[in-house]
Amino acid sequence: MDIIWRNNSSDDVYEEARLARVFTARHPDHHPTAIVRAKSESDVVEAVRLAQNLNLQVNVRSGGHSYPGWSLSDNSILIDVGDYREIKVDVAKKEAWISSGMKSDIDMELMKEYGLILGAGHHPGVGIGGYLLQGGLSWNCRGWGWTCERVKALDVVTADGRLVRCSSDEHSDLFWAARGLDLVDFPGVVTQFQVQLLPAPKAFITSGYTFPKAQILDAFNWVLGLIPAFDEDTEISAVCKFPDGIDEICLTVSFITMKDSAEAAWNVLQPAHLTRPKGAILEWFFREDSFEKEYANEVSAFPGGRRWLADNAFLNNEADVAAFLEELCMSITDKHFALLWYPLAPQSLRPLPDMAFSLRSDHYIGTYALYESEDDDEKCQSWMQATAAKLEPFRTGSFSGETDFRVREVKCWGDDQFAKLTEIRQRWDPDGRICGPLQ
Ligand SMILES: Cc1cc2nc3c(=O)[nH]c(=O)nc-3n(C[C@H](O)[C@H](O)[C@H](O)COP(=O)(O)OP(=O)(O)OC[C@H]3O[C@@H](n4cnc5c(N)ncnc54)[C@H](O)[C@@H]3O)c2cc1C
Repeated sequence: MDIIWRNNSSDDVYEEARLARVFTARHPDHHPTAIVRAKSESDVVEAVRLAQNLNLQVNVRSGGHSYPGWSLSDNSILIDVGDYREIKVDVAKKEAWISSGMKSDIDMELMKEYGLILGAGHHPGVGIGGYLLQGGLSWNCRGWGWTCERVKALDVVTADGRLVRCSSDEHSDLFWAARGLDLVDFPGVVTQFQVQLLPAPKAFITSGYTFPKAQILDAFNWVLGLIPAFDEDTEISAVCKFPDGIDEICLTVSFITMKDSAEAAWNVLQPAHLTRPKGAILEWFFREDSFEKEYANEVSAFPGGRRWLADNAFLNNEADVAAFLEELCMSITDKHFALLWYPLAPQSLRPLPDMAFSLRSDHYIGTYALYESEDDDEKCQSWMQATAAKLEPFRTGSFSGETDFRVREVKCWGDDQFAKLTEIRQRWDPDGRICGPLQ
């Protein structure tokens, strides 16, 4: 087992392992006692048993893309599964076993090799481990649903060092919790997930429109009007920020259509194009796209090596959504801030399977601050807090994957689900061996 002890390694070696793949440059000041670079399930079992013997906690890193850097804690063994990368695909059943150290760019590989996709995170570096445990806001979530809905089973090393398979038939409580529990401390280390895959789209086409500040309300009203009848294989999103080289906020509305043919995609995108408000300062229509290009866009919009703050809300469906979104956009007075609106209907109208993931609405709103200098911490935190306060009266809940539980109290699960989660955690990890943000 490849293990790096804090008190027994050079600072360079230890720091490299401590911060490997950690996305935010606001590095938490936490120092694990040891870091295990696990390459197999047996490494994970051995590492958990070692923690037990030494009476240390266990933390886990898959992709390192938790915004607050949850994978770092003191008095712990950090099990980094980033080098445990395995994938076994059953093409006939459209199923796969995927190790938690794989990253979201797995969709590119699945598409090329097997003509299938998982529908993982939008950023290629997001780890499959953290992503699936917290629910998984997938590509085209409004049509294809939360990725955890497609998890069929998983293998878990429990807090007492046993490797168990969990599904609807075996250890069904852990299976229930694994689909949406994460970030209130899943009581084990997931080594691999069995997932249902989707057929890969043959045509991957986008349109996009960047509207000036004065047209933001018109733009929101236009898209809101389209959504109820809009194609379910199309991801819709809108981002408000100061685009590079432009001195005012703009709103970019994007449609990513993933269909079986270019003709089908044309039929989806053309009506939206014909009805768009006039006056966009930049637009593209029916542009051929791919996961490679989308990942590249995502990496340039969400660069690593920066300080990051992220928060979010599921907005009450009864709110005056366009007016409220416009008001939020107007609060963006600085190039460090950004707002994402990601409509979730019709998926949000369908019943969810019985699982921990339980809160959502028709409208997901993400708020982000990205900046380089510690000097901007206070300004950015203030904006995040002010925006959270504006959202509060209209918030039906939050998504744990983009939440910092240490900043404020957040409701990410229904009351019944939260009570059940607490009980499952107590049953499987009574000593609090596996740590997370609430430990
Ligand atoms: C740029 C960016 C883009 C993002 N885009 C999306 C998106 O499109 N959709 C979406 O849903 N989310 C998105 N997220 C949020 C992201 O999915 C969550 O933060 C997720 O938890 C990250 O997973 P990770 O494995 O990379 O995290 P890590 O930082 O490696 O882990 C975070 C925590 O998750 C738990 N954990 C991780 N792996 C395991 C495991 N194998 N077993 C048990 N516990 C584990 C641990 O508590 C760990 O401390 C994005 C985040 C970033 C930074």
